Amino acid sequence: MVDEFDLIKRLFAPLTMGRPEALGLGDDVALIPGPAGRQWAVTKDAMAAGVHFFPDDPPELIARKLIRVNLSDLAAKGAEPQFLLLATCFPHDVEPDWLDRFASGLKKDCDLFKVAVIGGDTIATPGPLVLSLTAVGMVPEGAALLRSSACSGDHVWLSGTVGDAAFGLLVAQGEGKSLSETDASFLLDRYRLPQPRVALGPRLRGLAHASMDVSDGLLGDLGHICRASKVGAEIEAERLPLSAAARAALAAGLGDGLTTIVAGGDDYEILFTAAPAAEDDLTALSADLGIGLARIGRIVPGEGVTLVDKEGRVIKSGRGSYNHFSGGRA
Ligand code: ADP
Ligand code: MG
Repeated sequence: MVDEFDLIKRLFAPLTMGRPEALGLGDDVALIPGPAGRQWAVTKDAMAAGVHFFPDDPPELIARKLIRVNLSDLAAKGAEPQFLLLATCFPHDVEPDWLDRFASGLKKDCDLFKVAVIGGDTIATPGPLVLSLTAVGMVPEGAALLRSSACSGDHVWLSGTVGDAAFGLLVAQGEGKSLSETDASFLLDRYRLPQPRVALGPRLRGLAHASMDVSDGLLGDLGHICRASKVGAEIEAERLPLSAAARAALAAGLGDGLTTIVAGGDDYEILFTAAPAAEDDLTALSADLGIGLARIGRIVPGEGVTLVDKEGRVIKSGRGSYNHFSGGRA
């Protein structure tokens, strides 16, 4: 079975021609020298019907999710979003009304996040709807928050709450009938319309060491930080920030419980590490922005990510994230 990350390393990494801008294809963005002591941060994410959203999802939400998953990568690097390039591969039979609604979703988030579409491509295909977006942001030179800057002794932090989107996906698949309507629609919303942390990311510059967004699952994504930084990490299950709806989903036995929370994807929160001395500043920042920041664990010498209970006993170790080629969660 082909492994997504192995594929990138083996087939695409040689194409960087050794250019430092590519960061070895090992981070969320490329960093290109920009004007006046700044750098362009560039990222690209694709979404396909049946994989990242349901074909009958509201077109406005599909459009907005496409923008948001890309802005999430920029935010996690501390970059401010500027420009978008949009490629749309529409099925031949797409309805004009669907396209209007899709465009209105794009407009809404371009206004909200103050980004401009500056190019793209439009084709029709016999296959399912596929969308791809390139997002370009800006960051002061040398200030981008990389995956490779975690230090042993750092605290590990997570914005917002974890697991909502994974439970939301299960709700979308018809599970969770016993949940209240409020909880079910909260979780579904977290899956369909992520909230990229665009206000938080730039404010983490100078405070965070390593950072990335959680798109493929908390443990797996933390594993990327650990590998890039040549360290290990220990996460305390008790400290994971859970929404009331996620607690209800846990109590209702939805999915695989804790595994769904730590290995489920699509949360688009920021996972970062910071020196213990940054704790007061981060607590103040959290209050200032009204965004929860939870200290969930620490960076340790060695390698690998472990999830431990209150007494420090290992609950889970390993990768546990979404891999597009090995057909789901490992
Ligand atoms: P993310 O989940 O943050 O979008 P990915 O895990 O998809 O990041 O990608 C990891 C790295 O590999 C990124 O630097 C990305 O730009 C690069 N990458 C992924 N797919 C390709 C590809 N087909 N060609 C070149 N680079 C790629
Ligand atoms: Mg990312």
